[in-house]
Amino acid sequence: MEGISQANESVLDKAFELLSKYPLCDHCLGRAFSNLATGLSDEERGRAVKVALLLELDRRVKDQEVPDLEHLRSVLENMISHSERLYEFYFGLSMPKRECFVCRCKFGEILEELISAVRDKVPKGRRFVIGVRVPAWIRERETNLVSEANLAHYEPLKDELKREAGKRLAEAGYMPDPNDPEVEVVYDFETREVKVTEIRRRHAIAYLKLSRNVPVSAWYARGGQSLESELGSLQVPYAERSQVRVLEEFLLISPKPLEGERMGYVMKDLGELRGKELKTAFSLRPSLRQYRVLHLCGKTSTEVRVYGEICETVITAKDWDEAKGALGLSDEDVIAVDMIKSFGPSARFVDLLVRRLEDKRNR
Ligand SMILES: [Zn+2]
Repeated sequence: MEGISQANESVLDKAFELLSKYPLCDHCLGRAFSNLATGLSDEERGRAVKVALLLELDRRVKDQEVPDLEHLRSVLENMISHSERLYEFYFGLSMPKRECFVCRCKFGEILEELISAVRDKVPKGRRFVIGVRVPAWIRERETNLVSEANLAHYEPLKDELKREAGKRLAEAGYMPDPNDPEVEVVYDFETREVKVTEIRRRHAIAYLKLSRNVPVSAWYARGGQSLESELGSLQVPYAERSQVRVLEEFLLISPKPLEGERMGYVMKDLGELRGKELKTAFSLRPSLRQYRVLHLCGKTSTEVRVYGEICETVITAKDWDEAKGALGLSDEDVIAVDMIKSFGPSARFVDLLVRRLEDKRNR
């Protein structure tokens, strides 16, 4: 938009460029400038930009800087609202109604529907998080808009919907809580279906394994003894081979709290995993593990004699298979093996949970 501003890429230049190509409602234009003027809603921002642009365009017309009004026709039409009067004044016709390129002018309606769906389905005292499913055609249009107009701070439609609905519901006494929700409400933008799911709760259990050949998982036990066959469904983000004892705390995920000793497993309940923590718990692994191996002497270069012909070797490796390979030991050579220390993000995660539990108990 030449001559409107000295600076490149001013807000009005950008708005003119966008509105020359695309009809955009206040919400969808406002999200293109979502990093500016904090404290405004996207709708307010979009309206403000349109009004400022109208003032500037009309000034140019009045100062006879616009040789042909036709140049402004589609920009005014693409504003969808606020420009009707000026359009009529310039062209002597009422302005044709256009649909927003991104939301088809459905944003306001969908927002109201989403809010009443939450009111209907979530009791006031329950903490909830809102999810919005947006159809592929909207995502594609948003991607086009961002790349064509080079928008560095575009906010996706679904983020505005979630935020605005959350704000309005909180004002009405409901409890949006994305960090620690009890229920998730997922709204489908296209089908308008609403799905409410209880957030599953899981306990983090730190365990030591003092027994050999009793795995956690019933599947690995192949019909034999396992912790799962004793306690019901359990999950382990990472584990050891069943012949390895675990002498530093590893993590177990259980639907219920567990405490005490069962089948050689010494368990300590570290409390509930909430929100993103559960995902984190499943994604972390030890980067290295240290093993203490008892074997017949004369097998490794770092062995230390502990008793008669029995030697001990300590080795650090990615896992037991790698350690065994590095030492050149076969299963027959090994008398006993213990995992004595682990390193990396999973160990830090267990430490964090232990500290959190201690803090809670000390309070
Ligand atoms: Zn829109």
